[in-house]
Amino acid sequence: MDLSTPIENLSGVGPQYQKKLKKLGIKTAGEAIFHFPHRYDDFSKVVKIAELKPEGLFSVQGKILDIKNLKTWKKRIYLTQALVGDDTGSVKAVWFNQPYLITTFKKGDFVFLAGKMASKEKGRYLSAPAYEKIQPREIESQNLDLTHTGRLIPVYPETEGLSSRWLRFIVKPLLIKLKNKIPDYLPKRIIKNYNLLPFQEAIWQIHFPDSLEGAKRAKERFMFEELFNISLFTFREKMKLAKEKAMPILFNIDLIKKFAEGLPFNLTNDQKKSAWQILKDLEKRKPMNRLLEGDVGSGKTVVAAIAVLNTIKAGYQTTIMAPTEILAKQHFRTINDLFKNFNLKIGLITSKESRLGDKKISRKEMLEKTKRGNINLLIGTHALVQNEKSKSKSSLAVSVKFKNLALVIIDEQHRFGVEQRARLCQRGGDRDEFIPHLLSMTATPIPRTLSLTVFGDLDFSLIKELPKGRKKIITKIIPPKERKKTYNFIRKEVKKGQQVFVICPRIEPSKFNLENSRWNEVKAVKEEYEKLSKEIFPDLKIGMLHGKMKNEEKEKIMRDFKNKDVDILVSTSVVEVGIDFPNATVMMIEGADKFGLAQLHQFRGRVGRGEKQSFCFLFTEFPAKRTNQRLRALISSENGFELAEKDLKIRGPGDFLGQRQWGIPDLVMDSLKNFSLVETIRTEAKNILNEDPEFKKYPLLKKKMEEFKKIVHLE
Ligand code: ADP
Ligand code: MG
Repeated sequence: MDLSTPIENLSGVGPQYQKKLKKLGIKTAGEAIFHFPHRYDDFSKVVKIAELKPEGLFSVQGKILDIKNLKTWKKRIYLTQALVGDDTGSVKAVWFNQPYLITTFKKGDFVFLAGKMASKEKGRYLSAPAYEKIQPREIESQNLDLTHTGRLIPVYPETEGLSSRWLRFIVKPLLIKLKNKIPDYLPKRIIKNYNLLPFQEAIWQIHFPDSLEGAKRAKERFMFEELFNISLFTFREKMKLAKEKAMPILFNIDLIKKFAEGLPFNLTNDQKKSAWQILKDLEKRKPMNRLLEGDVGSGKTVVAAIAVLNTIKAGYQTTIMAPTEILAKQHFRTINDLFKNFNLKIGLITSKESRLGDKKISRKEMLEKTKRGNINLLIGTHALVQNEKSKSKSSLAVSVKFKNLALVIIDEQHRFGVEQRARLCQRGGDRDEFIPHLLSMTATPIPRTLSLTVFGDLDFSLIKELPKGRKKIITKIIPPKERKKTYNFIRKEVKKGQQVFVICPRIEPSKFNLENSRWNEVKAVKEEYEKLSKEIFPDLKIGMLHGKMKNEEKEKIMRDFKNKDVDILVSTSVVEVGIDFPNATVMMIEGADKFGLAQLHQFRGRVGRGEKQSFCFLFTEFPAKRTNQRLRALISSENGFELAEKDLKIRGPGDFLGQRQWGIPDLVMDSLKNFSLVETIRTEAKNILNEDPEFKKYPLLKKKMEEFKKIVHLE
């Protein structure tokens, strides 16, 4: 038995439970013991029955004096009622809808019960207490081994049909079996210097703590460990990349000047600075790995275009990958326009079509041209990196190969897995020893602690200022009673010639069933579309956009929106990234409380792109609830960076980025609030790498890094 033992091999885990465990992401013994509790029930106060009080949580030890099932008349539920006694008295315990308990307990059994007393009016009894049987010899020897009562009890993230109680049954024996079999790979020096719990103690204390302090220290240790791993990993990637070679691309100042002078606007200072940093990176012989981070609408595309132009005119190929088809096409249009005076060959490739200028060509032809070097810039979706294995359909069976690719740009980079990124940045073409420069772009403001750790292998360029003349977007929370008024306001805007986006609520996505949650989103869009076009705005032109629509349908609706044949576009979160419609001035978000702050900020960024005043309406059923702190933060900050830092301080980055979006464990999310801890850990990681880059002294760390790499790449 070790950490990699599959759950199928554990005793007591039948096929039904295996399925449920997998839902929680648990496939091995290791994943089971790293499924940490998110809180504890404090049942550590053990009292005599006579001492039970109405307030607080207690545990009592006693003997079953009587037990029976009753069926209530009205509600038709089972009540199991037991009388439990000790040497100070007796008390009733009542459970609901668990009739099988009558076979679990027999008269005369010794038990531990834990929980709360029912409220006074209902009479004096223990209401649905936690329970466990104990053996007479345990009592005699005074050696009780309690799991569910009489101590701090772990409560785990659960899934339907899989309770914390059941998880405790599995985890505890595992911990015992694995005792001292899992080596502590954190260097001893670090454990000592930072007064961390050693692994063995920490893993026990996080599940079955002796005190809340013990649980806290265990959590701290694992937090430290995760951050340390991430830091080591990203530093190491950075060092490795520094050893690789890339094509140096000379900064052609005259060319870039000419391009900038031809633009219909002046570049902002931040755009100039970012472009400069990128062009300087391109001149180096080592590959650039830079993230261009700029708020929605800050003008990242034109900065990317500068890098592309400089690279093409130096004689190399470039590519831009976008996360959605809509966005890839928009880039294709925008960039064709930006480069209209430069006579470049720009291709578009998606899973559905390939285009060269305004001509459609076959995918095969596009691939050939690209391979021969006859395409200067290839813009596409993930179809760019599709290979034989991932798609068997013949037209997609060949992946894109370049003759001399020197620059890869990935828009909204967090949407792409590391794997896809790696595939695009492969060597190949004419000169095998080189790998391309990489520029990623994102509108998601990344809090500093995250940029130092999780994105620690990247260099950053920031565009903080928006182009001149943009008006502040008026943002409002709309409670149910203001719905009507807001609809009227929206109608007036439309009558003035403005256009509206409606984003549909995210129906609580079942984390593990993406297919299903997409379907739900589509359903929400259809319902909203029906409602708006039939009941609310029968006089206006409503359109609908979602992921299940055919390509031609999507294109048509986007065209209609652009031509103002549609006033209100009801959509799933696909409009989230990138799209640019200056005439849209109202963003209406249904179920706004269901979205993460970063995403809301993104939605809002879809409007406010022209001179007219824009509005963002956050519809919510819960205007007063705590969830709306989040929405309020959105109102008080218009700047994404400010928003990110603020939110990080209040609630931790999980909330801001949307849970799990980044594949970062919750534990780490928590620790990212603590800037000085992050700094300390980074320094330690750096020291180790400088002192011993091959981990000769730390074989366990080396192994850990390899495992880590696998995880990152499977994401
Ligand atoms: P994002 O950073 O969100 O990708 P875009 O690159 O799509 O933003 O730019 C948003 C809009 O701003 C585009 O219509 C673009 O033409 C315009 N734009 C970009 N830079 C400037 C500038 N310096 N001044 C005025 N408008 C600009
Ligand atoms: Mg963009």
